[in-house]
Amino acid sequence: MLDVERGLSQEQRLMRQSCRTFVDESVTPFIRENWQQEWSMEPDGRLPREILEEADRIGIRTLGVPEEFGGVELDAETEAQTFAIIAEEVARGDSGLADKLSQIWKVSVLLRNIAPRHLQERWFPELVADPGFLLAHCLTEPRGASDRWLPYNVPEAAMQTRAERHGDQWVINGRKHFISNGYDASLYVVYATTRPGVGMLQGTSSFLVPRDTPGLTVTRCNETLGCRFMNNGEIVFEDCAVPADHLLAENDALSKAGVYFKPGKILQAAKNLGVGMAAFERTAAYVQEYVQGGKILIKHQAVALRLATMATKLAAVRALLHEAAREVDARGPDADALCNMAKVYASEEVFEVAKHAVELHGGSGMMLEQGIEKLFRDAAIFLHMDATADISKFKIVKSLFRDTAGTYAGVEA
Ligand SMILES: Cc1cc2nc3c(=O)[nH]c(=O)nc-3n(C[C@H](O)[C@H](O)[C@H](O)COP(=O)(O)OP(=O)(O)OC[C@H]3O[C@@H](n4cnc5c(N)ncnc54)[C@H](O)[C@@H]3O)c2cc1C
Repeated sequence: MLDVERGLSQEQRLMRQSCRTFVDESVTPFIRENWQQEWSMEPDGRLPREILEEADRIGIRTLGVPEEFGGVELDAETEAQTFAIIAEEVARGDSGLADKLSQIWKVSVLLRNIAPRHLQERWFPELVADPGFLLAHCLTEPRGASDRWLPYNVPEAAMQTRAERHGDQWVINGRKHFISNGYDASLYVVYATTRPGVGMLQGTSSFLVPRDTPGLTVTRCNETLGCRFMNNGEIVFEDCAVPADHLLAENDALSKAGVYFKPGKILQAAKNLGVGMAAFERTAAYVQEYVQGGKILIKHQAVALRLATMATKLAAVRALLHEAAREVDARGPDADALCNMAKVYASEEVFEVAKHAVELHGGSGMMLEQGIEKLFRDAAIFLHMDATADISKFKIVKSLFRDTAGTYAGVEA
């Protein structure tokens, strides 16, 4: 097997090792015992609080929260790179858990960068104190998230969730769906149109909305194909009034969210790599043990070819991921293109890796007992999270060919 620690600092190796121990001792035993129950478990009982408590104990739950508030702030020069290492390791154990945690990390980075001081003082200590405290980022609405990612910056494509200022409050009305941690978060970042007549880049604001705010209702837990140990939810806002000082960004919220989106793409690719590594490791063990045609599978040429393809794809995903993470950390000019490349490439290649894993397990690959089908389902989810594959590719072309690329929505100029 390739050395996955090549190029890591001593600190990153230690973090990786402690995540691996956490996964092997606390996550994998629970997941193996429960992956057959994924479909019958109630959302509230899906992932035990003790796992989040253990994540907290080893210092990975509050990554991104400033140290002065009790969090674990990573070295800014290598933050995205370290996120990638940790996310991969956690997702190797369970991608739903990795989603739960990475939402906390991403939203903490956003709040650290754009939230006014009084909001950081108010909310970071609560997050740090309670291992069950989850964060969520509410952008997507029933009508087209792709318009936001492109972005399609015309008034008719603006968000349908609206916020209006009434005295010393902002009153929010609308609906957000497909939100990671949406079902059980304690605190939501919510995007809403505040200037209806203009494009979303000039007329969208963001707010911090505590779960217990009157008018906020969690209307459902979405039953997803994969990543089922993270509860994805739908949230409705009906005359939901938040204090005016819970405004995060007025009218330019989408441009300010770049600090969230870039590490976000790195985290997506890294979680995806973790799922791919789990599929590869399990398959490599299986083909070296299981016998057909009088010999272990790996000695059959067609099996060896598939294994080589899987290993090569994962090595290529890893190389691009770490290249992209370095560029994000350096705030370099290619960060946009590279983080989208890493995200979309990981989603397509790991999906292929998972298909080979299922295939090499034969009929066992289809059975709930083996858990290989779980990895296949988890891999499929990544094609549609944080922008679809096609929209991510438009973003890559727009970054590479700024003057000539299309808008890919509406009438081309
Ligand atoms: C597991 C999961 C977790 C998620 N978590 C979050 C979260 O935490 N917060 C959040 O805000 N959102 C979240 N999402 C939403 C996610 O970002 C969107 O589902 C995704 O961006 C696609 O948007 P959509 O579903 O509205 O599809 P649409 O935008 O309706 O797209 C439908 C199809 O049309 C294509 N398409 C759309 N526009 C164009 C165009 N102009 N040109 C060509 N093709 C186009 C798309 O590629 C796609 O194939 C999550 C989704 C999933 C599946």
